[in-house]
This record gives sequence, structure tokens and C-alpha cells, in this order.
Amino acid sequence: MWNPKAECLSREELEELKLERLKSTVRHAYENVPFYRRKFQEAGIKPEDIRSLEDIRHLPFTTKEDLRENYPFGLFAVPLKEIVRIHASSGTTGKPTVVGYTREDIEVWSEVMARTLGMANASSEDVVQIAYGYGLFTGGLGVHYGAEKIGCTVIPTSGGNTKRQIMLMRDFGTTILCCTPSYACYLAEVMAELGVSPRELKLRAGLFGAEPWSEGMRREIESNLGIEALDIYGLSEIIGPGVAAECLCKEGLHIWEDHFLPEVIDPATGEPLPPGEEGELVFTTLTKRGFPVIRYRTRDISFLLPEPCACGRTHIRMGRVKGRTDDMLIIRGVNVFPSQIEEVLLSLGYTEPHYLLVVDRERRLDVLEVWVEVSEDIFRDEVRGLEELEEKIRREIEAVLGIAVKVRLVEPKTIQRSEGKAKRIVDRRDLK
Ligand SMILES: [Zn+2]
Repeated sequence: MWNPKAECLSREELEELKLERLKSTVRHAYENVPFYRRKFQEAGIKPEDIRSLEDIRHLPFTTKEDLRENYPFGLFAVPLKEIVRIHASSGTTGKPTVVGYTREDIEVWSEVMARTLGMANASSEDVVQIAYGYGLFTGGLGVHYGAEKIGCTVIPTSGGNTKRQIMLMRDFGTTILCCTPSYACYLAEVMAELGVSPRELKLRAGLFGAEPWSEGMRREIESNLGIEALDIYGLSEIIGPGVAAECLCKEGLHIWEDHFLPEVIDPATGEPLPPGEEGELVFTTLTKRGFPVIRYRTRDISFLLPEPCACGRTHIRMGRVKGRTDDMLIIRGVNVFPSQIEEVLLSLGYTEPHYLLVVDRERRLDVLEVWVEVSEDIFRDEVRGLEELEEKIRREIEAVLGIAVKVRLVEPKTIQRSEGKAKRIVDRRDLK
């Protein structure tokens, strides 16, 4: 554990600390960000109205659109000269969302990321290979500063150049790998092609995040790379990686509550949901100065697990993110998450963890086609075997989703590999 005192704080102390920090953040935002002042006034609320943690529900939500509309620095709460770092989203659908950090914010980020790496028992003995993208994306540098804070030996490979990643992993004795789960799968696949056995490596753990993944994918990565694979969670609007992470119990991700206050709401009504109920995750930052965020709607679907964890950490856990309200597919009125299909495919075990969901509209009816890559040895079997397999997968998926789907088995290596976040959905319905 990186910081046992903070990570095992009593619930009472944590609640007190959260309230004190919430009050101070709300005041800071109100006094320094015109956007928040205006929204609080519209909602008829003043900073002094926040007397308990429950009062948070009187504060308005903040959305990604709010961030875009205040591009680039409109939501910063300090003058630019106090900002030492800026990150931004890729902005595929218009202007990017921009976030800024003071020197103290970078310190907080390093601390929560050090705790996150501490989940895998990282120490100065470890060699950490960071294959998240470096640059405006928060992944690479976020993990980097946390690993350096612990005193790990850091290899900042960034994404891509897969053969070199594997060579460095072997030659430098990498013990902990950090990247997206889909890239971890791809690394394992290329290693197998190159004839590099996991036994030649010193890898013992991996911290994988930036996209939703399933238990089946965890088993796949753990057996193919011979490691403990842990899920980490974060988003640049809140701080970057390091908002929450799984401990070795692997039963939910501890949210660092002394820095981030979580809520789960009904995405349709905005009403808070009780612990255990699934809904949209909402976060309020409690210590950030440069870019405080109040009730940010993440669009990520999860739930909170308040029960104590066997690891001894007292911070509340969240369930692994199942999908997003905006990459959730609605097929004939049914909510479909790519991770549900992934789980079915991996539990059957005949195929590679590479798949694509293609949605079309035929005669005004939504049609979901699941493209699945079969493994090399199964593909060599006769066609009849493939048809049976297709049928089997189709039945299993239909049993889970409750709607009819088409399954199409494709040759090995047909589906495009990703070095970052995997693209799982092709939705053609809007094109007609
Ligand atoms: Zn735990």
C-alpha cells in the first residue's frame, strides 16, 4: 500500500474530510469561475447552503457540453500563470475539452496515481512500462508521475511500435505493464507470433484502463501474459487516470474519496440512486484548484459498493464500468453494451477477443451483426464446423441480450487492431 494512513482512514474521518473539502471547492468555484457562479445563482444556491454531503444534490450538473462551450480556459479557477500543465481530449466531434493543473494539482494527481500503482504492490524495485499515449491525452503522463513518485524505474514507451514494446519488455525486465486492455491483448498476440514466451519476461502485473472491459478479457490477459491484471479508472475531466482502481481482491475499484466525491444517478431523471443500483457515475473534485469540477456527468455506467473490502482500504468501491450511456447501443429498444457480448464470446472460448458490432437498419428494423474473429486452428476446420459455431454463438448472445442477432465469423486478423481504445461499434443507422 502506498499511503496506508490515507487509504485506510476511518469512515468517520473520511466523511468529515469530504464535507470540509466539498465546502471549500464549492466556494472556490463560485468565487473564481463565472460559469459556476451563474449556474448556482440560477439554481438559487449559495456556497454557504452546503452544510452536509447530501446538500450536493442541490448543485447543478456539469456536462461535457459545458466544457466545450467554455473552450479553452473558461472553467479554469486560477490565472493561467498558475497553471503548469494543460491536457485536452482528442475532440473528434468538434472542439476539444481542455483541462488545466496547478503545481499542487499535479502533486495530487501523482499521489492518487501512486496509490493506484500501489494496488499492484508497486515499489522502487519495479520496472514500469507505460504504453498509454503521451501528449495531450492524460494517460501517459498521469501514470508516469505516479510511478516516479513511488520510485519505480519508468519506461515511457507511449503507444504503438508493438515489436519494440515487446523487445524492451524483455530486455529491460519490465515487471508492470500499463496500457489499454485491448492493447494488452494485442501485445500478447504479437508475442505469440514472435515466439516470445511470457516466461522469458519478468512481467508480474498490469494496470489496464481507458476503456470498459470484461472479466473474460481479464482471464484472457492473465493467462496469456502470466500476470495479475487490474482495472483502473479515470477521465481527464476529473484528473486523468487515478480516480479509482482495483485492489488485488478484484471486487470493484476503490475510489479515492478524499479527492473525488462519487454519486450514481438515474441518467434519465438526474435523481441520485442508492448504493448498489446501477446508473450514471457523477464526480465532484474535492482538492483540485486549477480546474475544479462540480457534479460532472461521466456518461459511464456503474454502481457503488459501500461494503468494507478485505484489503483493509476504507474508500468506497465502484463496480467495473459496463459501458457508457453514449456508446450503449439501443437495438429495438433494448440496451446493449459491447462488454456483454465480449463476455459471451470469451466464455465460449473458440474465438479471439476481437469483435465488431455492426448495426444496420433494414426495412426500418434495427439489425445487429456481430463480427467475430475465430482463432487460427478453428478456422482451418471445415466449413460445417464454422456454421455450427456461428449458430452456437448466436444462441448464446441472444440468450443474454434477449434480441435476435446475426453472427458472422471472420478470418483471423480481419478486424482492425487498436493501439489505444478499441473501436467496437459501427453504427450505420444514421447514414440512411
Ligand atoms: Zn480492496
